[in-house]
Order: sequence, then C-alpha cells, then structure tokens
Amino acid sequence: MPYSLEDAAFSGRARSATVDAGREAVAILTVHRSSPMSHSPTVATNLTMTIGGAAVSGRSSFEVVNPTDEALIAYAPECTREQLDHAVLAARTAARTWAAVPFAQRRRLLHEMADVIDAHVDELGRLVTAEQGKPSAVAAAEVAGLAYWLRETAALTLPETVNEDSGERLSVTRRVPLGVVAAITPWNYPMGQLSFKLGPALLAGNTVVVKPSAFTPLSTLRLGELLRDVLPAGVLTVVSGSGDLGAWLSGHPGIDKVSFTGSTATGRAVMAGAAPTLTRITLELGGNDPAIVLPDVDVPSMAEKLFWAAFSNTGQICLAVKRVYIHADIYDELTRSLADYAATIRMGDPTQEGTQLGPISNRRQYETVLDLIEDCRRQGHTFLTGGTPAPRPGFFVPVTLVDNPPEESRIVREEQFGPVLPLLRFDDVDDVVARANAGEYALGASVWSADPDAALAIARRLDAGTVWVNEIMHLTPQVAFGGRKQSGIGVESGHEGLLEFTEAQTITVRRG
Ligand code: NDP
Repeated sequence: MPYSLEDAAFSGRARSATVDAGREAVAILTVHRSSPMSHSPTVATNLTMTIGGAAVSGRSSFEVVNPTDEALIAYAPECTREQLDHAVLAARTAARTWAAVPFAQRRRLLHEMADVIDAHVDELGRLVTAEQGKPSAVAAAEVAGLAYWLRETAALTLPETVNEDSGERLSVTRRVPLGVVAAITPWNYPMGQLSFKLGPALLAGNTVVVKPSAFTPLSTLRLGELLRDVLPAGVLTVVSGSGDLGAWLSGHPGIDKVSFTGSTATGRAVMAGAAPTLTRITLELGGNDPAIVLPDVDVPSMAEKLFWAAFSNTGQICLAVKRVYIHADIYDELTRSLADYAATIRMGDPTQEGTQLGPISNRRQYETVLDLIEDCRRQGHTFLTGGTPAPRPGFFVPVTLVDNPPEESRIVREEQFGPVLPLLRFDDVDDVVARANAGEYALGASVWSADPDAALAIARRLDAGTVWVNEIMHLTPQVAFGGRKQSGIGVESGHEGLLEFTEAQTITVRRG
C-alpha cells in the first residue's frame, strides 16, 4: 500500500505498518518514537527567502508563534512588492530555459530534491511542529511524505497524442508548460500541501514561486534554502509575508498559473484576482465532509476509525470527517463508544513522546472553533465530551462531540476545521443522502458498512470530489483529487493533476 496522507494523519497512533512504499517514512516514525525531541523547539531567526537562486532577507519581518505555548519562535522575512516583482522576473527568466530541460533531467532533479528532503526530515519536522503544532512523529511523516511524493510524481509521463499520421498530414497534440506557477499553501500541512504542487509543476516544465501561510512560513523557507543548490537559479522561489503578499502574487501579471489551497473565501478572491489576465487557476478549498455509518458496522472498531477520520491533526484536515450520520439502530452505542475512545487520547505538547494530538494551529483558527462551540452552547446542544477550552497559554481545545444538533445548526452547516464534531442520527437512506449532499461544499465523503455493495450504492449517490467506502483520506500521487461545488476548481495529483500544470498545444504538418 502506498504512503498516503491518511498514514501521515493517523501516525499519531503509530499506523506505521500501513506506511509501506514510504519505507523511509516507517523508519523515520520509528526513530522519532524511540528518541523524543527536546521540549523547546529551535528558534529560527535568520531564515531567508529564495529569489533568483539567492538568499534574500526581508526589509522587515513578522512574528511566528508556537501554538503550543504561544511563544515567539522566529521572525520571518516580509517580502516587499519590489522584491516580489524581482522574484517573478527571475522565475520568468528561468522558465524559458527550464522548459527546454529534457523531461528525463527534470525527473532526475525531482529525485535529487527528494534525497535532500530525506536528509533533513528531522530538521524540517521540528520546524513544522514548532510553527504548526502537530506531534513530532506526524510532522516527520509529513516531511518524508513530500520526498515520497516527489519521487512518485517523477514517474508520471506526458505523452503526446498523435491525432493523424497520414500521407496528407501529421497532427500531434502535446502538453506544454504554462510558465511561472504561484503555489499558495495553507497552514495545516506546510510541507504536505507542497506535495501536490511542487513536483507536478516542476516536472511539467514550469518554474514555481511558493508562498506559505504567514502562520507557518518557517519549514517552507528552510526548504527553499536546502534546495537552492539542487535546482537552477529561479526555478524554485520561496517568498514569505504576512500582509497582502498572497493577493499580490495571485494577481501578478507575471504569473501564468495559480495553484491555491486554502479557504473558499480566499479562493473566490484568487479567482477574481486572476480574471483580468485570465491567469489559469486550480483551487483546492474548504470542505464539510459527511460520513454515513450503516447499522451493520462493528461498533468498537468503527469508533476508533471515526475518531481518527475526524480528529487527526486536531481536525485540521480539509478531507477530515466534519459531520457523522449514524444509523439510529447504533447511534447510542457508537456515540458512547466514540466518547470513551476520546477519553483515552493524549492531547498536549507535540514534542513529547506519546502525544497524539496537538493544539489548534493558530489564534485565528482557535477563535473560530471556540466561536462554534459557544454557538452550540447558546443553542442548547448537548456535548457528549469536551466543550471547554484548556487554560492558556496554548491554543488547546479538547475533542468535543456534539449530540445530534439540528441539521441547520452552524456546527453542521459550517466547516469547523478543528476538534469539534457533530454526531447526527438518521434512519432513512434517501433522507441521509439528501442531508449529506446539502450545503455549498463537496470535497470528500465516506460510507461505512460491513456490506461494501450496500455502501457503494450510497457512495454513488453522494456529491463529492472523492467518496471512500470503509476508509478515508487515502490519497496517492497517482490518483487525482479535488472538490466539486464550492470546494474547488480542478484537481491535484495523478495524471490529471499533472495536466493542470500544462496546456494542450496542437501542431499539424501538411504533407505532400
Ligand atoms: P486561507 O485561505 O486563509 O489562506 C491560504 C493561503 O492563502 C495562505 O497562504 C494565505 O496567506 C493566502 N492568502 C490570503 N489571502 C490571499 C489572497 N487574497 N490571494 C491569494 N492568497 C491569499 O486558508 P487557511 O490558511 O486558513 O487554511 C484553511 C482552509 O484551507 C480551510 O478552509 C481548509 O478547508 C482549506 N484547505 C483545503 C484543502 C484542500 O485540498 N481542498 C486542504 C487544506 C486546507 P496568509 O497566511 O499570509 O494570509
């Protein structure tokens, strides 16, 4: 079974046995589990942007905070408009030669990038834990996953299509690179989100300008530093900023494509910003993924699976289960079992061995989640567990299970992106399909049953980019994923994901 986000997400409970193709990842998980890291993360004060292959400092800087204790851990460079112009120009210049580099050589460089990342898993993982808050082993798996994804992506191909090869005419459609790609990432998986963008964009012959979230810039800045000597100057640019940098970049006339992952609200702004120049876009946006649990499941094991499907990375996964529809026949037993399982989970300092869940990643998201919990309280919903934030400092919100709130309540309709989960009762399949398909999002969905055929029949009726039966979040470099409705436009990964970093060009030659 290939390495997948599912494994990275679940590794808080040592699912390393399922991390197979990423043998390195298994080893890394093992190392981390037997040698805990020091309590205090390294304070990174002098990380630089990568522009035109060189180290560039900001004219000013912004603060990066550790969500575990709210300590200031670093200052990151604030990219100016002028520096961005320079960065895009350097990327444009490099794009001409990079597009002409033979495919096999670009492929080889992706492997070299992966080797460098593998050699720095500990260092990058420590930065991810410090800036994002996920447990050390999970952060290490995320970094190793980026290396794995680069190698697997390198095996993809872009064959030409021969439309006609006759005495009269040769007609061929080939895929050509777009030019300069802006890769804009969110804070939940600073390295993991790059897996879907970096390899495919570079392999297809584009140069890339990466902008990480202002909450989690450190690992990406360091990645840029590490890869400076691997790639020709200007092929990979990394800029950071806390203000308008994302809007400047996505609306920049020198950018040919924006590959964006983030909230639906920002996705709309990116689309509007791209309109004047008809810049190509791929948008991976928010989700409110339903899980439907049929009455024939084994309840104790279902409780454990559901828990990790919803709460891995403290619920901060776009494809996490965000609402659970449980058949009335097992509702009481399964919800009780879920609450019991939640009581066994260790949430706390992510650098400590044995911690399974860390804090919410930043203050903004912490306040969003607390606001949703407060709304539940105001509406009189019942908490089966949780509901009260831990004392500060640290953005900790305990796992919170909400007992059968109304379908129109905010906790059901909105994306919580945190450790709060509405549990909903159903007894009619048509009704639950309609409820699962309601709303603006359509990213992922799952159906769980001892009878895969019965589950599949329901899965086929669900409106989502990916629907899993009896598993969840299984993503591989060979398989495209994306959102429908307001969960996104376009796909990432797999052959279709690679095509998104190209355009079709047809060349015909008249013969005779
Ligand atoms: P945001 O949309 O706030 O930010 C995402 C990125 O966009 C950040 O780098 C941000 O920079 C940047 N940005 C902000 N404003 C603009 C702009 N006007 N133009 C271009 N870029 C801009 O999302 P979050 O970081 O809060 O991430 C959480 C969201 O991401 C959730 O809704 C989640 O569902 C979604 N998500 C979707 C995934 C998917 O694959 N479908 C995967 C993971 C998350 P800055 O930090 O500086 O503001």
